[in-house]
Amino acid sequence: MSDLRALLALQDDDLAIHALEQRLAALEPRIRELDARRQRIVDAMERQSTVLQAEEKKQAFLRDKIAEHRELIARNQAQLDAVKTMRQATAAAAQMDQAKRIVAGEEADLHVITRRVEELRAGVAAQATELEACEAEQVTARSEVAAERAAIDGELAVARAKRDQTAPQVPAALRQRYDRIRNAKRVHVVVALNALACGACDTAIPMQRRHAMTAGTAIELCEACGVLMYHPV
Ligand SMILES: [Zn+2]
Repeated sequence: MSDLRALLALQDDDLAIHALEQRLAALEPRIRELDARRQRIVDAMERQSTVLQAEEKKQAFLRDKIAEHRELIARNQAQLDAVKTMRQATAAAAQMDQAKRIVAGEEADLHVITRRVEELRAGVAAQATELEACEAEQVTARSEVAAERAAIDGELAVARAKRDQTAPQVPAALRQRYDRIRNAKRVHVVVALNALACGACDTAIPMQRRHAMTAGTAIELCEACGVLMYHPV
């Protein structure tokens, strides 16, 4: 009977460890959720910044073009002032009109792009504010998770040390059987009989094994589901 008691104590320790590991695992989605929320803002901000940079490049290019074309107009004006004949004057005036039309078109484009750049900058700034707010908001949640994790890690260390004390109390052969079953992803390995049936899968105990089990000392393997069964007293 003391083998059974030692085995049940070992299982209790393992169940405690398992529960702590479950709690630790449950923290992961919370951390992932916090990270994902922050990352969504970072990603949106990066996308918007890329668009902004492209628009700023267009804006700088247009500004250069306008400056260049204004210079051309100034040169045309100087030429117009210096012309001697009517034909030269007509040609210079036509050239200047064309340059002015080009500049007017470019200025209209620049106006549109400048407005767009301003909107994009405002958007990026708003996202930066949103990111800051998100990070500030997450400080508490993240420190809560970190504290919880540290607490569980501490409890786990204690629980594992306790198991190290309990395990040698179970005879080696029985412990090997138990560990083998437990490692096959079973949480509950040692199960009490429930009215002469397996407490895990409810399969009735074969007639010939009933006596040994109900005598209270035997630890038997359930042929149906593979747990170790005992008769509760
Ligand atoms: Zn069973």
